[in-house]
Amino acid sequence: MDRLHTRRRRPALDPGHRRHHVVVVGAGFGGLAAARALDDVPVDVTVVDAHNHHTFQPLLYQVATAGLDAGDVTYAARGIFHRQANVSVRMARVVGGDLDGRTLALADGSELSYDHLVLAAGAVTNTYGIPGVAEHAFGLKSLRDALAVRAQVLSCFEEADARPELIDDGLLNVVIAGGGPTGVELAGGMVELIEHVLRHDFPRLDLRRARVVLVEMGDTLLPPFHPKLGAKAKATLERRGVEVLLGTTVDQVHRTSVVVSGPLLGEGAVIPAHTMVWAAGIRASPLADALDLANGPAGRIPVGDDLSLPGHPEVFVIGDLAAATDHSGTPLPQVAPVAIQGGTHVAAMIHRRLDGEATSAFHYTDKGSMATVGRASAVAQLPGGLRLSGLIGWLAWLALHLVQLVGFRNRANVLVNWAWNYVTYDRASRIIPEAEVGPEQVTPAFRSDSGGIHPPEK
Ligand SMILES: Cc1cc2nc3c(=O)[nH]c(=O)nc-3n(C[C@H](O)[C@H](O)[C@H](O)COP(=O)(O)OP(=O)(O)OC[C@H]3O[C@@H](n4cnc5c(N)ncnc54)[C@H](O)[C@@H]3O)c2cc1C
Repeated sequence: MDRLHTRRRRPALDPGHRRHHVVVVGAGFGGLAAARALDDVPVDVTVVDAHNHHTFQPLLYQVATAGLDAGDVTYAARGIFHRQANVSVRMARVVGGDLDGRTLALADGSELSYDHLVLAAGAVTNTYGIPGVAEHAFGLKSLRDALAVRAQVLSCFEEADARPELIDDGLLNVVIAGGGPTGVELAGGMVELIEHVLRHDFPRLDLRRARVVLVEMGDTLLPPFHPKLGAKAKATLERRGVEVLLGTTVDQVHRTSVVVSGPLLGEGAVIPAHTMVWAAGIRASPLADALDLANGPAGRIPVGDDLSLPGHPEVFVIGDLAAATDHSGTPLPQVAPVAIQGGTHVAAMIHRRLDGEATSAFHYTDKGSMATVGRASAVAQLPGGLRLSGLIGWLAWLALHLVQLVGFRNRANVLVNWAWNYVTYDRASRIIPEAEVGPEQVTPAFRSDSGGIHPPEK
């Protein structure tokens, strides 16, 4: 992710000759990797994204818990390609296309044609149709989601300060669904925000009445990790004040409560909470549906072993959008390294095609997984069975995320913010954006724009 501002080489202009055109949909991890790897290939590349920025999703939970600012985890897509002359960026949402005619339909009504297409549109929150999730829960898939969670929590604390009688109604409670890395990281960050920062901001509030509840359907946290790491994460979170409910399902979500069933609370137990974050699953971007390709698990697009679309060798699908498997048929996980390596691979395949060579199979190299559990604590599972936890895991997590962030300015900002937060226990970014003040406005106005959770109809 750090090959920013590469050398600028203007291609020789030949007015009569149209260069091979590669369209990359999505400026996420996969799309950026593909476009960058096409630097040395004699093609023109158009990167299309619905937003004007790349979002570093692994740190969204820190925006949601006021540890980082929006600009720390995003980077303007046009800025990323300043020095790569064969790339142009277009901010537009792709809403459909005609694969036989090699054109994409954009939301503004225009069309974009291509010779090769790389689909890297990622995933959105999956509500699984559970009643109330779409209407009342917050996602954590986009910058907008993260800012919405932060605004909601801070607004609830402001309201409780003015009307403490509402605390019994769950105003200070945050329920997080999903005990995977996102839920664990968010729960750890949330309890720290309350314990170390909001405690001082709201000295009149009895914050012992604020609850952070993490609900997981399975019987362990961090299911992709070794069970021992999941158990360590659970113990650390509980020590820090998070209520962890394993084997528990979310049955319904209401505006001020969540109904759950599980061994600890029983059937249909009601947890009062004005903030519910849904981190329990994702499904492919709605673009897969729009192109009539959502035939894989959770709407993902099945691909061949070279990541091309069966029947359309000029179309590649990578990252969270693709239902790719390894050589044994095991689905590849929806994580950043799969997207990045997939992007690099398909760029090489396009290069090969232009040279008249055959494509080859994609091989994913698993470099391990990590999740932070809060201040000075993380778990990491590395290749070769190596497992890290506690402070060492956390230092490894910090280093990896700093290296992967796009742009020197972002890295410097994040490093300074982390050092500040660590030394002072402060969180600099606890701002409620002006236009959205007040829980009544915040809740609907901030809903996800990622396609998974929509604003309630007015
Ligand atoms: C909160 C959170 C924490 C995570 N933590 C980790 C972690 O610690 N480690 C890890 O490896 N992975 C982590 N992941 C997963 C990782 O972020 C994803 O696997 C990765 O982003 C997938 O890359 P991608 O390129 O497929 O899609 P994305 O990075 O999601 O990019 C998709 C892009 O496509 C654009 N787009 C979508 N639809 C359209 C459309 N119709 N038209 C135009 N543009 C469109 C979007 O705006 C977006 O920019 C985390 C994810 C989340 C949400």
